[in-house]
Amino acid sequence: MKASIDLDVGRKTFASGLLPELIAALRRSRPGDLVAITSAEGIGTELETWCRFTGNSLVESIVENGRGRWVIRCGPTSGPVESSRPVGSRLWLYTNFDCNLRCDYCCVRSSPIAPRRELGLARVQRIAREAVELGVKEIFVTGGEPLLLEDIGEILAACAAAAPTTVLTNGMLFTGRRAETLQALPRDRIVLQISLDSATPELHDLHRGQGTWARTREGIQRARAQGFRVRLAATVSTNAEAEQFRHFLDEEKVAAEDRVIRRIALRGSAIEGVALSRADLAPEVTITADGVYWHPVGAEDADLLVTRDIFPLVESFAAVRRAFDHEGEHANKLARIFNCA
Ligand code: SF4
Repeated sequence: MKASIDLDVGRKTFASGLLPELIAALRRSRPGDLVAITSAEGIGTELETWCRFTGNSLVESIVENGRGRWVIRCGPTSGPVESSRPVGSRLWLYTNFDCNLRCDYCCVRSSPIAPRRELGLARVQRIAREAVELGVKEIFVTGGEPLLLEDIGEILAACAAAAPTTVLTNGMLFTGRRAETLQALPRDRIVLQISLDSATPELHDLHRGQGTWARTREGIQRARAQGFRVRLAATVSTNAEAEQFRHFLDEEKVAAEDRVIRRIALRGSAIEGVALSRADLAPEVTITADGVYWHPVGAEDADLLVTRDIFPLVESFAAVRRAFDHEGEHANKLARIFNCA
């Protein structure tokens, strides 16, 4: 992860001169800037504690060959964290990781050559059955591009039978047999969330590939013509881009509940964006072929892995809740320890 300041502190620790250097670096930074600290000492645990106490975020931690590199984001994340939703009311499924596109900010590094890492119909069917008993209210199916899967129709039917289901797609594959697959799905239980980053092709194509904007617009029209509710989701770099897209959505008369505008997350393939640590993300149970993750953004990153064991679902949900409670307790304990007045 690229940082605005790179600080090599040699063998210094919090007990031997690290803190003044760290504070000096943060004083030269603006909120949101990244500061990387390289050290030959194992300072990670103390650094994490210090970050929690001071309201900064540890967003990356790599230790190799006896040397560590830690990246701190200066200040809290901008934007609200959705913390009011009960953990487990939403369930995310990564059905696969391969994609027909290779977007330069993809948070899970999907591409045409990414290994498929398929969740598989049998597991999805079991997840859907167990999710009903756990009171899951919404299922989100994502990837990679879910429409690449031959059996996506059966996968989506299983999910939709369990809870209202939203499919995240780039909207470029709604033709031929895939159009027939969509045709068979229940409109009252399935929403298509289609990625469109800008009102005109330039920005969208810059991140997603030449000609993709036009093909996505066609996909949106096809989905609507088939009677699907379509939600438009933009991934943007700046407030100005967000504002332009809002204006476009107003002109297109897209309802408020069918709009998603989010910033690029500094995860996966992205080389710039909002750096997000686990503490910045309210947990949303996310299942991939590799295990259960804290949140869909970065659902292949080690810091967001909760457990490799998916089943029984009641246990994996409990593991996410336990981790959430534990981290909340930890934050409260620190607040008490460092209560200065
Ligand atoms: S952002 Fe979506 S469409 Fe783009 S590569 Fe990743 S999964 Fe595919």
